[in-house]
Amino acid sequence: PEAITVQELANRMAEKGADLVKALFKMGMMVTVNQTIDQDTAELLVTEFGHNIQRVSEADVDIDTAADVDAEDTLKPRPPVVTIMGHVDHGKTSLLDALRGTDVVRGEAGGITQHIGAYQIKTKGGDLITFLDTPGHEAFTEMRMRGANVTDIVILVVAADDGIMPQTIEAINHTKAAGVPMIVAITKSDKHEANPQKIRERLLEHEVIVEQMSGDVQDVEVSAKTGAGLDELIEKILLQAELMELKANPDRAAEATVIEAKLDKGKGPLATVLITRGTLKVGDILVVGTHSGRVRAMLDDKGRQIKAAPPSLPVEVLGIGGVPMAGDTLTVVESEARAREVAAFRQERATAKRTTTAPTSLENMFSALS
Ligand code: GDP
Ligand code: MG
Repeated sequence: PEAITVQELANRMAEKGADLVKALFKMGMMVTVNQTIDQDTAELLVTEFGHNIQRVSEADVDIDTAADVDAEDTLKPRPPVVTIMGHVDHGKTSLLDALRGTDVVRGEAGGITQHIGAYQIKTKGGDLITFLDTPGHEAFTEMRMRGANVTDIVILVVAADDGIMPQTIEAINHTKAAGVPMIVAITKSDKHEANPQKIRERLLEHEVIVEQMSGDVQDVEVSAKTGAGLDELIEKILLQAELMELKANPDRAAEATVIEAKLDKGKGPLATVLITRGTLKVGDILVVGTHSGRVRAMLDDKGRQIKAAPPSLPVEVLGIGGVPMAGDTLTVVESEARAREVAAFRQERATAKRTTTAPTSLENMFSALS
């Protein structure tokens, strides 16, 4: 456990040393700015001043990859990650299934489908596209709130025989708030009642101006039933992706984001993760959320065992010590000791946060100190 002087802590918090001394006095501690306090007291002070607790320790500093930016010349193109949003019953699931059906690899493999929360297709032209298989605004918003921006492109589904509905508007707002480019897919175009032009006009009211209305949002009429427009949709996704120049460094220790996780009776904790950079390999030692582990096996969305997962590939990971949360970051570390150290550190911090934010226990802490 590390100690820190009151002045040092004050500097880090951008507060006056004297104010910290005062606060400590109220907590029953007589110290000067040059004296050291222990970690727990420091955390209490930080909470008291309304800052986020960030315990400074080797474990925390090393795992904090935010500042660790890959050099430009290490970056290689990566497939786009696409999320489908839209109103209920407008055809999101049908479109996801239809797009999955265009996968040339699946055709060869015999069409076994594993629902792991995301899948990747290989197009006729050999390009790869990853789709998040959990349509839903909540998943998108929740992930974003947790700082996980995995979606590169949103496909906004609007049924040609219906119109702009509440969840359509919600999806538009979420997408705009996230600053993610959108492609409009007007679905159910095979239906007699289909009126795609009406949809394009109505979208104007929500400041979504599609190409046919002289805007810059790509739009395409599709039918999950007949397959019409699917190739065109795929082309538009690839065009959008090209404009974005999506890249990641594949040649480094992996980092990934948890898409979904569960506890399987036979296999233990299972997590579907999307690789954000580096390549995840079987045998890699990892930390994810408050859990540590070692990659025992990886399965892709076709149920195949794979040894190495590059950027943008969704894989199901076996070998994590517990069930992480959607949006958690998975980080590969160099040793088991290190993984355990970081996981333990995070568990401790999570507990500290819970106790210091609960008013009753906070009171208890203060009375215990005075
Ligand atoms: P979701 O709630 O957005 O996931 O919508 P679903 O994919 O479950 O589709 C809702 C209903 O619309 C189902 O009965 C589908 O069979 C039907 N549907 C979806 N896409 C199409 C389409 O392209 N053409 C036609 N005719 N029906 C569709
Ligand atoms: Mg659905």
